[in-house]
Amino acid sequence: MSIPLRQKISVGTYVVRQHLAGRKRYPLVLMLEPLFRCNLACAGCGKIDYPDKILNQRLSVEDCLAAVDECGAPVVSIAGGEPLLHKELATVVKGIIERKKFVYLCTNALLMEKKLDQYTPSPYFVWSVHLDGDKEMHDHSVCQDGVYDRAVSAIHKAKAKGFRVNINCTLFNTAEPGRVAKFFDTVKDIGIDAITVSPGYAYERAPDQEHFLNREKTKQLFRDIFRRGRGGRNWSFSQSSLFLDFLAGNQNYHCTPWGNPTRTVFGWQRPCYLLGEGYAKTFRELMEETDWDSYGTGNYEKCAQCMVHSGYEATAVQDAIKRPWKALTVGLRGIRTEGDMVPEIPLDRQRPAEYVFSRHVEQMLAGIGEAEVRAKEPAAAK
Ligand code: SF4
Repeated sequence: MSIPLRQKISVGTYVVRQHLAGRKRYPLVLMLEPLFRCNLACAGCGKIDYPDKILNQRLSVEDCLAAVDECGAPVVSIAGGEPLLHKELATVVKGIIERKKFVYLCTNALLMEKKLDQYTPSPYFVWSVHLDGDKEMHDHSVCQDGVYDRAVSAIHKAKAKGFRVNINCTLFNTAEPGRVAKFFDTVKDIGIDAITVSPGYAYERAPDQEHFLNREKTKQLFRDIFRRGRGGRNWSFSQSSLFLDFLAGNQNYHCTPWGNPTRTVFGWQRPCYLLGEGYAKTFRELMEETDWDSYGTGNYEKCAQCMVHSGYEATAVQDAIKRPWKALTVGLRGIRTEGDMVPEIPLDRQRPAEYVFSRHVEQMLAGIGEAEVRAKEPAAAK
């Protein structure tokens, strides 16, 4: 089973409670980024081009657990940067599991074998290993040879120790449907528990801007992949059937950016995991003071081609809770890969993109500078 029953019940109960409480907006998955530093430099990454002073920043164990408590989402996805570079990450994970939240630890796996003994298998814990395709595809995607083999070796070791292991796979416009389907068969044979799949989002700062998918190509690519696996039923996915149906052009969903709130070293990121248009000091401030309606496909130019799970999975989950028969039908029959697609969201009323990245970086650097001066003050006074 792709998502364990315990997790489905826990998340389902949480969502129903939010509806009964009349909450219009609530988080489903906390995206926790305790650092931006990485030990790879992938061409499609928009997270690692910060100045060193920012890359050296870490969220402390206390910061991470305070974010988990403040947010209250039932699932926490730890990303980065490469989270395993954080020296106290095992303590963070332990603290989240003690709170009975489900933790997905996203990693490129280069340090996974070395650090495996710091973690304990638990129904609340999943290794989510980054693999963007077969050996050639993945090593090309991460711009380094040998990474695929090291990730697969780490997956084998983790499975032998009794861990749940998923892969997370980002697809670009170079993806060949037949090859991706074969890759999904391969990881199934390796024994991974589930696949998280997503079209690459065109980060404005990613070095490689040529190979991101637009929505039309995304839908066709996913149809062509799912067709090769009985409407996707050949593989276990860690995403809802309705989100996968959306990727194949069968659901007309709007983005739910507040479903996956993001906490980074900058603060609570507005509006989502992919876009850093501003930062709030507290989770409450993020939820109450963000103009949510100004984001999403059709509302904002930077959102025009986005179909990423951090924006649309929460929409699909809400739909599944409201219309469980719909999700069940897609799960049983598989994803439709023929026939008309739903009409696209019109883009004629979207507001133009704002480019605010450098302002946030300057503010952060100024803050770090002031903190350094303050730290030196007592010594100078002596
Ligand atoms: S559509 Fe939603 S998830 Fe995608 S970039 Fe825009 S706000 Fe973020």
